[in-house]
Amino acid sequence: MQIPGHLAVAVAESNLPMFQRGPRRLLIPLFLASLFPDIVDKSIGYIFHAMPNGRHFAHNLFSLLGLSLLAGLIFGPAGGWAWFCGHLGHLLADSGRMVPWFFPLKKYPFQKGRLKFDPIQLLQETVILLLVLIFSRKRDFFHKRD
Ligand SMILES: [Zn+2]
Repeated sequence: MQIPGHLAVAVAESNLPMFQRGPRRLLIPLFLASLFPDIVDKSIGYIFHAMPNGRHFAHNLFSLLGLSLLAGLIFGPAGGWAWFCGHLGHLLADSGRMVPWFFPLKKYPFQKGRLKFDPIQLLQETVILLLVLIFSRKRDFFHKRD
């Protein structure tokens, strides 16, 4: 999944009660975590060439749990849960292709990859992001009228 798709998942997650009823600042760890795995792993893999592809150090259960705990220390317990939601949403959205859930405890056949943006997929995900934004706005509109 590419950036618009991950943002669409985070926007959809922002409709969960903890984000609707909680302070708006919880959206910061949610949206940071929704992009963080790709920012870290694609930088390591495709800019620094320290790993063969863009899914490893931040695309596993241990980074999910560890970074959620760290976010909890920085943003408070609710912020830790917000990070957990954003990071987990990212990993689940990526799970159509290999996600190394138990790296580094389990060996994975990391294959050489390259950073690429499929324009059709980018367009599809952008449309989905726009639809999720529209439905989220509509939901807010009707929610305020109750
Ligand atoms: Zn990813």
